[in-house]
Amino acid sequence: MLSVVIPVYCEETLIRESLAAIHDTLQALDISCELIVIDDGSTDNTWEQVIKLQEVIPILRAQRFSRNFGKESAILAGLSLAKGQAVIVMDSDLQHPPVLIPQMVALWQASDADIVETVRMRPAGESVVRKLGARLFYTLMYALTDYDLSRMTDYKLMNRRVVDAWLALGEYNRFYRGLVAWLGFKRVEISFTVPARPDGTTSSWSLRALTKFAMQAIVSFSSRPLQVITFAGIGFFVFAVFMALRVGQQMLSGSAISGFATVILLQLIIGSLMMLGMGIIGVYIATIYNEVKGRPHYIVRDAFDMQDDETSELSTVPTASMSSSEDEAK
Ligand code: UDP
Ligand code: MG
Repeated sequence: MLSVVIPVYCEETLIRESLAAIHDTLQALDISCELIVIDDGSTDNTWEQVIKLQEVIPILRAQRFSRNFGKESAILAGLSLAKGQAVIVMDSDLQHPPVLIPQMVALWQASDADIVETVRMRPAGESVVRKLGARLFYTLMYALTDYDLSRMTDYKLMNRRVVDAWLALGEYNRFYRGLVAWLGFKRVEISFTVPARPDGTTSSWSLRALTKFAMQAIVSFSSRPLQVITFAGIGFFVFAVFMALRVGQQMLSGSAISGFATVILLQLIIGSLMMLGMGIIGVYIATIYNEVKGRPHYIVRDAFDMQDDETSELSTVPTASMSSSEDEAK
């Protein structure tokens, strides 16, 4: 069985079209499939659309969060629900072309790879800020973690082994793409160019959300920024010893020391470095704080399952979630 997991946030304009396209592709495959939609607390009519789609897509299963918990949480919810031998995670806006699904499945069946990964060319018409931001993020990520994720996407097929390994990870902050890279396993790649969204709108990620996401991804993945502080400290210590020697020598030789500007400058530099250092430590402490709190990743508000599937119960939602779900959507 193949599970397709789709995180959805405020996609009322596209959701019908894209789920229909994905469903058509799945029907053409000769394996049994389930389509898992996680509504990440959409504020528009997305959930109503999903409920309506239940009539035309019998293999649909869905959960709706009580608020927007973020794509990573939605992916976690979807993966926890998935029952398939292989799971594909994809976007709901057709930027992850459904035509790749048969290719991914064929590759998975033909090779002994555990992960079929799609690698992308960045879409045309992205704003300069986003492009630069993405470049900065991936460069930092590579420098700090040694994983080059710049061409990776969230669109991948994972087999049961990988999904179980991923679900077994204990950490709260889960940067899906990074962690799947971290897991290892045998992987094959398919490349594609990311198409524009059919409705002409742009990404639903605000710049603020993206920045927060990037910070969390880096912090949850690498402690090297903390080491940078240590190295800066060592650098300054060496510099200070050198200065002290110089000053001592000048005092002995009786030449006057005029260096007011230097003192101010040093004060400023050291002060700002200390603040930077404390800031970085603060981010890590905040992350530890979040881990320790152990809050659920998401809270389910509504859910429905495949109609003809009596064996599946919604109480199988992950232990991490407080299932406040009232079965059957209203
Ligand atoms: N998404 C989500 N929660 C969010 C933001 C986005 O589940 O808070 C979903 C969204 O519906 C889409 C996918 O994540 O299916 C990718 O979002 P988007 O297309 O806005 O981002 P991009 O194409 O820039 O990666
Ligand atoms: Mg998109």
